[in-house]
Amino acid sequence: VLALDIQGLTKTYSGGVKALKGIDLSVSQGDFFALLGPNGAGKSTSIGIISSLVHRSSGSVKVFGYDISTHLEDAKRCIGLVPQEFNFNQFETVQQIVVNQAGYYGVPRALAHERAKTYLSQLDLWEKRHARARELSGGMKRRLMIARALMHQPKLLILDEPTAGVDIELRRSMWEFLRKINQEGVTIILTTHYLEEAEMLCRNIGIIDHGSLVECTSMKSLLNKL
Ligand code: ADP
Ligand code: ADP
Repeated sequence: VLALDIQGLTKTYSGGVKALKGIDLSVSQGDFFALLGPNGAGKSTSIGIISSLVHRSSGSVKVFGYDISTHLEDAKRCIGLVPQEFNFNQFETVQQIVVNQAGYYGVPRALAHERAKTYLSQLDLWEKRHARARELSGGMKRRLMIARALMHQPKLLILDEPTAGVDIELRRSMWEFLRKINQEGVTIILTTHYLEEAEMLCRNIGIIDHGSLVECTSMKSLLNKL
């Protein structure tokens, strides 16, 4: 079964903007996949639809075989989402944010605390666990979003421009972490407008432009063409 199977996906926003014009895309289990494209290409819209934050106009989306129109809750449980904007409560502590997230998914409290310790340590946030989110630097907030998205141990981690505005050193350590998670079996899809980032990390790549998928290939064969 595919991690992601999208057929004929379109999205026209209420103002009339055709953000997606018929996307077919599949991502295998265990893949590290980049959706690359310029600003306004439709990357965030695609991710929004996959994670069911945005309604699609037509087409089908299956996540690990679960069709989001008939098995939405099952599909959602497979996904950990790291959106671009910081969307946590700035007044909660780091630990509260991740433990509460696990609570939404019914993870028992003791297990949630165990996972919190694991992910916060791996993302170099454990020392900050009692700090309120608003006291964190941008890079720390970004890592907090990743820890939070992993708390229910999703099979598919989706990240929207994960390293936008992150300095090169931190970017490298985030890449390391994502590689490790992927090696442990989590399928990863990220959007980026840096070819370099896709090149460093990803096995397969889809290039989206003006709402259409213009290329979908392995990173290797793309680099051979360039
Ligand atoms: P990307 O993530 O690749 O930068 P987006 O998916 O954000 O692209 O945007 C694709 C197109 O849809 C753009 O033309 C953008 O202006 C438009 N768009 C995005 N979100 C909305 C929205 N909520 N309402 C109307 N148009 C939108
Ligand atoms: P609020 O804005 O009221 O805090 P959200 O829109 O952030 O609520 O969350 C709504 C639902 O989406 C919650 O059930 C939450 O579990 C889920 N959710 C929010 N963020 C994520 C994420 N990063 N990964 C997976 N699920 C999320």
